[in-house]
Amino acid sequence: MLTLCTIAAEVAACRKCPLYKHALHGVPGEGPETASIMLVGQAPGRMEDKTGKPFMGLAGQFLTAQLQQLGIKRQDVFITSVVKHYPPENRMPTKTEIAACLPYLIEQVHHINPKVVVLMGKIAQALRTHPAMRGRVIVEVPHPAAARRFPEQRRIFQKKIKQLAKYCPP
Ligand code: URA
Repeated sequence: MLTLCTIAAEVAACRKCPLYKHALHGVPGEGPETASIMLVGQAPGRMEDKTGKPFMGLAGQFLTAQLQQLGIKRQDVFITSVVKHYPPENRMPTKTEIAACLPYLIEQVHHINPKVVVLMGKIAQALRTHPAMRGRVIVEVPHPAAARRFPEQRRIFQKKIKQLAKYCPP
């Protein structure tokens, strides 16, 4: 099984789809190898592309604050996205880009072996029936970017994310 560092190095050098051509950094994700909670978004945005770290922009600040309200420190969970390079102009990743990138996420899931996987937004939620999700608690929430902007999405996000409190590390 690949280590998280090896996966990160492979993401950095990835040429499996054209997204790398316009991106500044690959964004493999971050967090402990032993995290019991893994959060999965769609694809890096501009801030994530600049820094090489996941969820650094406004959606990331919202997510971090929501976790904090449940007593969960951001550094105790593993945060990543389905697609690991920034799609130009923040467009939706294509089916081909998702398919090319997915093996990285699946390796990360196998390596970390989280008890809970939080699928944030439609692109991540398409993985709910993937064999790598079997035996895990799957929590589906709206994407934090939508939850931050739209009150109804925020209400759903907050209601669903609450269940994480019982899985957070001591
Ligand atoms: N949105 C995502 O889905 N992932 C990020 O890393 C940032 C914003």
